[in-house]
Amino acid sequence: MLRIGCHLSSSKGFLAMGKEAVKIGANTFQFFNRSPRGGKAKELNLPDIEEYLKFAQEHNITQILAHAPYILNPCAKDEGLRQLAYETICDDLNRLTYLPDAMYNVHPGSHVKQGTEKGIFFVSSMLDKIREQGYDTMILLETMAGKGSEIGRNFEELRAVIDQVEDSSRLGVCLDTCHVFDAGYDIANHLEQVLEEFDQVLGLERLKAIHLNDSKNHLGSHKDRHEKIGQGQIGLNTFVNIVTHPRLRQLPIFLETPNDLDGYQKEITFLREKAKQDND
Ligand code: FE
Ligand code: FE
Ligand code: ZN
Repeated sequence: MLRIGCHLSSSKGFLAMGKEAVKIGANTFQFFNRSPRGGKAKELNLPDIEEYLKFAQEHNITQILAHAPYILNPCAKDEGLRQLAYETICDDLNRLTYLPDAMYNVHPGSHVKQGTEKGIFFVSSMLDKIREQGYDTMILLETMAGKGSEIGRNFEELRAVIDQVEDSSRLGVCLDTCHVFDAGYDIANHLEQVLEEFDQVLGLERLKAIHLNDSKNHLGSHKDRHEKIGQGQIGLNTFVNIVTHPRLRQLPIFLETPNDLDGYQKEITFLREKAKQDND
């Protein structure tokens, strides 16, 4: 059975997200611990988490994904900004210790004129510091579209981060379909070759989750504007290929398409139907 969900608002707590997920046919979901623009997270509501965990078990919700605020820049030039990223991520990971099943998704950040090498150094140093604190949540580096000076614009940059961390055993990759397409990987026409390249550079065993988004922009545009499934430049076929792919269909899949809950439900229903047809 496909493990698929979408991004949900965490403002009403975990049990509410669990119920929302079930309502739209999802069996996983992604969320922010705090405003995506950063800032302080709400006080942890442990009774809510306890109720959620029970609910999740009853409804087979697993492998949820927390997304770090995207305003953070782990490889900022300013030391204070790097420290803020580090502290916020640690606070997020503290919260995730109550959700043993969750993974944590991070944008490597933007090097802003310091150069790729320096950026990669700052990201991997931060990941080392996090591990030294004893957090063992699976951390996923997201493949980026390469707008501005984003680190992670190609598989090699993520490889370099992984190579430079002391202990990469709990470090994985989240492949965002819109981002890789905007970065220049032609998953629309050559999904197999892209996966092969991923395997050669990063190893497919590092791939732990997929962000499933169509793209408003063309291949290699470096733009990062998500579109609804099948309404962008990637096209419906690729998404069907992904949810039926023997190496991908076991992975948790998260929609970050511009949708309300109804729209998400439609996409989930459609993709489940395609995955099921393939299994029959
Ligand atoms: Fe992201
Ligand atoms: Fe994403
Ligand atoms: Zn994006």
